[in-house]
Order: sequence, then C-alpha cells, then structure tokens
Amino acid sequence: MQSPVIVIDNLQFVRLSLETGLDTTQIMAYDGVLIDSNDAPFVQNSILSIRRHHQPEVYLKPIFLCQNHPSAFIHIHALSDGQYIHDKDNTLVASKTRKIFQKTLELSESKPNSAYGAAIKKALDYMYCRENRILQPILDPFSIIGYSFPEMSVSFETHEEAQILDALDWAEKNELIWPDFQEKIYVCNQCSGGFLSYREVCPHCQSSHTYGEDLVHHFPCAYIGPISDFTNEKHEGLHCPKCNKGVHHIGVDYDKPSVLYHCNNCDTKFQDLYVKAKCLNCKNDVEVQYLQSRTINTYKLTSKGRHAITKGFELQNHTTDAHFIERDLISEDTFISLLNQDCKRSQIEERSIGLMAISINNHQAIAKEMGNYRFKKLVLELYDIIANELNPLEYLYLEQGHTFYFNQYLGIEDSFISIQSSFQERLNQLIIHNHSGISVSMNYQNISLNECKDGREALNKLKTQLN
Ligand SMILES: [Zn+2]
Ligand SMILES: [Zn+2]
Ligand SMILES: [Zn+2]
Repeated sequence: MQSPVIVIDNLQFVRLSLETGLDTTQIMAYDGVLIDSNDAPFVQNSILSIRRHHQPEVYLKPIFLCQNHPSAFIHIHALSDGQYIHDKDNTLVASKTRKIFQKTLELSESKPNSAYGAAIKKALDYMYCRENRILQPILDPFSIIGYSFPEMSVSFETHEEAQILDALDWAEKNELIWPDFQEKIYVCNQCSGGFLSYREVCPHCQSSHTYGEDLVHHFPCAYIGPISDFTNEKHEGLHCPKCNKGVHHIGVDYDKPSVLYHCNNCDTKFQDLYVKAKCLNCKNDVEVQYLQSRTINTYKLTSKGRHAITKGFELQNHTTDAHFIERDLISEDTFISLLNQDCKRSQIEERSIGLMAISINNHQAIAKEMGNYRFKKLVLELYDIIANELNPLEYLYLEQGHTFYFNQYLGIEDSFISIQSSFQERLNQLIIHNHSGISVSMNYQNISLNECKDGREALNKLKTQLN
C-alpha cells in the first residue's frame, strides 16, 4: 500500500498509521516521519523499529506524533521529536526537521573499536542531532534492572539493560560522557535482575515463617525474657514472672533491649534475622550482602565526546576494563601452537622452559557465592596479575574462566615459586579488600617443556597433573 505523503514547508513526511503499517526501508526517502495513531503499542513499536534500525538514515530520522499518548509509554516520548497535531505546529516541525538534518551532516562515520562502540556511537549521534547533552535514566518496569536509558536501550534486547550499564561504564572510562550520581541499586549477582523479593529469614533453616517478640528487662530483679513471659491471665498489663511485681513504666522499671525471634519452621530462637533477596527473574536466592551493586547515573556529553561524534573516536586502550572482550585473550589452539615452538626451542637450545598452571579449585562455589559478575571481575584481576609478570616471550591462556596456563623462560623452579607466592599474596589482598568471607582454594602445577614432544602433549600432561 502506498503511504500518504504530507508536505510541510517543502519537506516531505511519510505518515504512518495502523492502515499503512510500518516499512522502515521506505523511511529513508523522506525528510521525516509522522505517526498518526492513538494505538500506543503501535506507536511505540514503530518508534522502536525506526530507532533500532542499523542505518543512520533511518534511525536518526525526525519523528513527530499526530496524537496524544499517555506518559506510561516511556519510549514514545523519549525517542520522538515532538508533536504535529495542529496546523500551528508546522513551523516548529519544519525547523526541527531541518536542524536535525543539518546536524547529521556533521557526524563522523568512524565507530569506536569496542564491543560497545556501535551502541555508544548510535546513542551519542542521536543526542548530538537533537542538541541533547544529557543521557537520562528513567524508571522502567519493563527493564530488567528497573531503569532504562532509551537512547541506549534501542541497541540492546529488553533483558540486556545490565549490559547497557557496562557500555556506559566503558564510555565513561573513555571520557565520552561524564556521570552525575542518581541512585545506587542492588541487582541479582547471577543475572543482574533488579526485581528482588526481600525476606527476613531464620538463620538456621532459611524459612521466612518467623515471628519476633520484644525482650523485656525488669530492672528491680534483672530478669530478661520475651514479653509473653510478662503476661498472664491473673494480672492486667505486664507482670514479672520472677519477682511477681507489676511492670509499669518503660525506662523507669523496665526496658526493651532487643527483639527475640522464633522460627515456626525449625522451632529455634535467635536474635538476628538474615535478610535474603530472591530474584524474580532467575529465582536465585542470596543474602543481601552478596547482591551486586550498580550505580545509576545521569550522563552528560563531555567535550571529548562531542569531538568524537564529529571528528571520530580516538580511544586509548584501557586494560582495566572489566570485560573479557576488552582483553587479548588467546584460544587454546593458538596457545598450543605457541607451545609447539617452545617445545622445539627447549630441545634444540637445551633451555629449560616451563609450563605453569594456576587453577581455582572451588570456582563454582565462589561464583555461586559472590555472583558471576563479581567472580568474572576477580578472575580478570588475577589475569592481569599474571600478565604483568610475563616477559614478551611468555604468554597466558585462560581456560573456562578459571584456569590459567602460561610458559616461563627463567629458571623454572625459583621463578614459579616466586610467582606463586606473589600471586597468593596479591590474591589474599584482593579477597580481603573486595570479597571478604570467601576462601579461594588454588592449585599450582608445572612441568618442563623439554619432557614433551609438542604443545598438545604438554598441555594434556599438565591438565592431568591438575586433576
Ligand atoms: Zn528455622
Ligand atoms: Zn522482676
Ligand atoms: Zn537473577
């Protein structure tokens, strides 16, 4: 079906409605889009389809709404450019459309070379064309973390908001945007879900079927007991079961020093409840101290960010980024072919070259306890510790996110022992500073490469030693 075209001040707009439907490819040919429907889901879907498109000629297009929509549909308002309801809107619509087009001509085509580059570039370009310098989080019950950044959300699936935070961290590290604190939130340590059900539970059996009672301390006789001990049928009000006196004025003849809890499930009494959070997304149930905390910021475009939008991105490489993807991790095949060279070299040159392994034995338990996100960060910190010890002839392979293999050129025994001890020392520091209460059990193994005919054999031997 042919979409009706509306001309406003010599600009051509395509008018989308339930009857015309949505065909994103044809949008490119027009100066702007009008969405004429009172069907909010249709309008929101149309806007998202346009903004999610991979071509800037589509996703940067000005969009105007021909009808009013409730503010509950947050993406409608955050990702459209205004209204076109009355004739008097003509001037504004035309001038805004011209301005956005003018701005698109200033954009650089270069994309930052990172996993998040495309998403960041898209959001920054969109903001730049609207002369919008602030990236604002909004409360969003449909986002897995409870917040969304509409300009960023279009590059991610609806359950991927946690990755948006990672992408924003990356942009912040590269000084493209500047954070302004909004909120610190806690999310699930397994799936980063933000919808958590908090319960006070018994420390012994984890049941939330508990009740609390005030403890009463009677000053004259020093008796302390739950308030139910102080009531009986014979007396009105509180009455001391030990000295048999009436108990009258709090602060004068008694006080309530704390609360005593009782578990209806396992029938124990205790003074402190545990607070646990159950994730509504993945059903993971953890004590609140192990939840992952994330900061929700409002972001401002920096001058470096504006420069990058129009002149291209020149980013320094940050090795401290908390993502595997940002590091030059090598595959097992690459590692083996490098080892093959070393096996030959150790036989020909009679050099002692060692192959080392450091493995985290209880990685599953740790990941469960501290959460995948924090565990991954810990492993990367360990990765950096080893990588910093290596010389240019030595290389490091990380297997399954918990076992490190690397070759060593200098006198094997001594150097491996010194690596082990400095590794253990820094590991202890990391654990103490960041992840208290979790003990890590490590396995250190090494073999000499001149005992092996090739890299595959060396790696297999070492793997057997580890088990
Ligand atoms: Zn219990
Ligand atoms: Zn008493
Ligand atoms: Zn979860």
